[in-house]
Amino acid sequence: MTFTLDFMGAAGGVTGSRTLVKFDGYSVLVDCGLFQGPKEIRQKNWDMMLPPAAKVNAVVLTHAHLDHSGYLPRFFRQGWRGPIYCSEGTADLLPVMLRDAAFLEAEFAHYANQAGYSNHKPALPLFTQEDVELVLEHIQPQKRGPWLQLAPDVSLRFANAGHIIGASILEFALIHKNGSRTLTFSGDLGHDRSLTMRPPEPITETDALVLESTYGDRVHPRNHVVHEFSQIAKRTFERKGVLVIPAFAVGRAQEILYIVRQAEDQGLIPQVPVLLDSPMSSFATKVFFDHPEDHKEGCPFSVVEGQECYLPAQFKTITTSDDSMLACMQDGPMIVISAAGMLNGGRILHHLKARLPNSNNTILFCGFQAEGTKGRILQERPNGLDKLRIHHQEVPIEAEIATMASLSAHGDWQDLCGWLKRMTKPPSTVIINHGDPEAMKAMVGHVKEILPRATVTPMLTPGRITLF
Ligand SMILES: [Zn+2]
Repeated sequence: MTFTLDFMGAAGGVTGSRTLVKFDGYSVLVDCGLFQGPKEIRQKNWDMMLPPAAKVNAVVLTHAHLDHSGYLPRFFRQGWRGPIYCSEGTADLLPVMLRDAAFLEAEFAHYANQAGYSNHKPALPLFTQEDVELVLEHIQPQKRGPWLQLAPDVSLRFANAGHIIGASILEFALIHKNGSRTLTFSGDLGHDRSLTMRPPEPITETDALVLESTYGDRVHPRNHVVHEFSQIAKRTFERKGVLVIPAFAVGRAQEILYIVRQAEDQGLIPQVPVLLDSPMSSFATKVFFDHPEDHKEGCPFSVVEGQECYLPAQFKTITTSDDSMLACMQDGPMIVISAAGMLNGGRILHHLKARLPNSNNTILFCGFQAEGTKGRILQERPNGLDKLRIHHQEVPIEAEIATMASLSAHGDWQDLCGWLKRMTKPPSTVIINHGDPEAMKAMVGHVKEILPRATVTPMLTPGRITLF
């Protein structure tokens, strides 16, 4: 009896997480994510077919980020039906994440048709709101901890991954002819320096491990985030500039708001207007407060009283697109937080168009920027790049571009190794996924140093691994 893993995405890259786990006639798809980034990567969402619908018994999600969940509506559009298992936090986030994704799909198709730049005539969305509603009917939220029987020989449980609300490590237990075996997916792992999120739960033992490697070749600075943030904010405000922060509305936005409040309370920055411009932001903030099981212990907010000690003094959420456009014209000093975090769509693009040409402003990156995304291009400015193409316009880059790596929702390689070292029975097989090629290769070296006898394989391209 063999047990196979088909890596169909997040292989040699960080998006499109999809791994089909097959065992004795039963198959479960771990994550069902969108490919995100430049056009040639997004094209995979159209070209890459998942296995014929009937061959997948269930979908299990590590977390709600779209590169892990956003292909679900397309999968349902292709005819698949079945249970989607995820944590309670993920189940609460999915409606807003997927509905927003369908909205962006429709908007993208609309722009493409207006501007006539699509290969498809007419340009079509990958999926629609109806597909999303169908997905939502099939979600089966699970508590973290107890085992869930998926099939006679396969069970599953969720553990806290500390990455965003609901993010989970998946542990599969399998009854095998040679005894039982365990297979663990790290999912996206957080770290212990977040001010708001609980660190990843230690896993004591596993036979095989699929480990993410987003920052497999980097170490985040251990700076004090509130002080580091305050320095960047202060110099922007002294120029009467606007501090624009591209952030995933879910996860980073909540952490940043809390950091701004801390900086205000400690007198490190003046109180200025702080606008959260994302249609899903207030919902995501509510979900954040609904899940204290994921909050950092000792964090000075609770479900009931949280907002008063959590939000900046002059905080405002923007919901309508008219107000969003008005915010683009408002004078600094102020802070604007908007999605998408990697600049691959959404309202952040309007803010960049308005703020990039002025050297008083600052664009502050605080999350991972995948290779090929506008975010990575602006962050690295290859060959002294002085213009960024947004909505088919060349926008001059005059604003300060800053990065706070210490704010990432992903652990770096030292965090990943620290988590691995806490296992009392470490894995004999480690498969590295979810990283750019250099990060994956570096992570192989780091794991081999801790586990010299383990087989460590980087998934540099999609492919199959047979276990046990
Ligand atoms: Zn994630």
